[in-house]
Amino acid sequence: MIELLCEGHDAAYELGNVRNLFLPYVKEALVLETVYDGDLAKAYLKKEESVIQEASYPVNLVGNEIKDKKSLKEALKKAVYDTLSAYTNRQMPWGILTGIRPTKLVHEALKSGMSDEAIDAYLEDAYKVSPSKRVLMREVAKQELAILDQNKPEEVSIYIGIPFCPTRCVYCSFTAYSLEQKQKEVEPYLEALFKEISFVAKAKQDVPIRSLYIGGGTPTSLNEDQLERLLEHVEASFDLSSIDEYTIEAGRPDTITSEKLRIMKAHGVGRISINPQSMNQKTLDAIGRKHTVEEIKEVFHIARALGHDNINMDMILGLPGEDVEDVVYTLKELKKLKPENITVHTMAIKRASKLREALREDEDSIHLTEGDKIQQMLSVCESEMADMGLMPYYMYRQKNMLGNFENVGYAKPGTECIYNIEIMEEAESIIALGAGAITKIVYQNGEKIDRIPNVKSLKDYIERIDEMIERKREGFEKYQ
Ligand code: SF4
Repeated sequence: MIELLCEGHDAAYELGNVRNLFLPYVKEALVLETVYDGDLAKAYLKKEESVIQEASYPVNLVGNEIKDKKSLKEALKKAVYDTLSAYTNRQMPWGILTGIRPTKLVHEALKSGMSDEAIDAYLEDAYKVSPSKRVLMREVAKQELAILDQNKPEEVSIYIGIPFCPTRCVYCSFTAYSLEQKQKEVEPYLEALFKEISFVAKAKQDVPIRSLYIGGGTPTSLNEDQLERLLEHVEASFDLSSIDEYTIEAGRPDTITSEKLRIMKAHGVGRISINPQSMNQKTLDAIGRKHTVEEIKEVFHIARALGHDNINMDMILGLPGEDVEDVVYTLKELKKLKPENITVHTMAIKRASKLREALREDEDSIHLTEGDKIQQMLSVCESEMADMGLMPYYMYRQKNMLGNFENVGYAKPGTECIYNIEIMEEAESIIALGAGAITKIVYQNGEKIDRIPNVKSLKDYIERIDEMIERKREGFEKYQ
């Protein structure tokens, strides 16, 4: 427990985030006083009124004024970081960086012509990022820029959400409804979605599409007939002739049949996801997956036999009960399958998940993986990915991630997922359709973003589809 006190500044939120990184390593009641007094940002860690650690950083001034609020906040964050780092004797992998898109900093540095060495020094001095994360940031940023540099000004990407899953996973916080309860809503949902697709296709008929992504939920929780009708409608509505990428996040193996794989292939889907999360049966059972490891492999082999040559597989580090050896086993099994992409997620305890709920009720009932162990798992992943010829190509961070780590997408060169980079880097507009989907209109050369949200609830989306279309119409008109 560390009580945070602020004097002479309003950076309580940002400093609270840095303090929270160290909380798991503090076992006594302490007070952290943070002060801005005109030219120094200071932090004092106190135990029973005595200062036990302190640090200070100069604040950038222009004359007698602070250069900008950001530089004051960064000086305060560094003072807090140094104080707590000295007290706990720990370095945090991401230093004071708590944002979700760390590579944006590197994009700017690369565009301004900075060398790798200069970028490295900057990330260390300004943000205290560890050496391994600095290398990761640079590698990912270069891969991302190679894809983003091919964006054409008028292009958009399209996202279509299918918010159904066979059952709900314990860690899920997405807009996903269990089919056990919502089977009857699927047809009305598709009807509303088709209407929205038709509207967007007409409104944007002259706009080229760079990538199209059908995600969820689990799109393959639709039955074969529904999936085929969806893909036919997409094909009939949008001009897909010059699209760079068409992905379906098939997701859970228990929803994928050979017929669905055939339908996807026949309708031009070029990239699919088959997401095991873990190749350990005990874990699949524990997280609420109703399928076996053998089924994952079987589906993968069928997909290959049907010609799917760009397959992503997701895995999650820090799943309940998993240790480093379990991750090693998952990697060993994935290696045999040779997918083109593997996305490594670090478990995040999200607000809307059953896991968060269970933790609230009985904290001792669930064993969460500690930061040090997650770091070991990440290191194993890094070296195994390199061994499989997969390079890190996109990355993001979330709030409440175990150990404050990151999610990283790895890909064989040339198979990187364009949509993942576009959505993460917000470099081009993404028109998003379906319940809970949020359209992002990027304008003024990527400087500004406006959002057009659809309602989250399935019922509201179906009943208020005309209103959702109206929202889009107004949004599109604004940026024509
Ligand atoms: S498959 Fe994905 S979207 Fe569906 S319940 Fe599990 S985590 Fe949520």
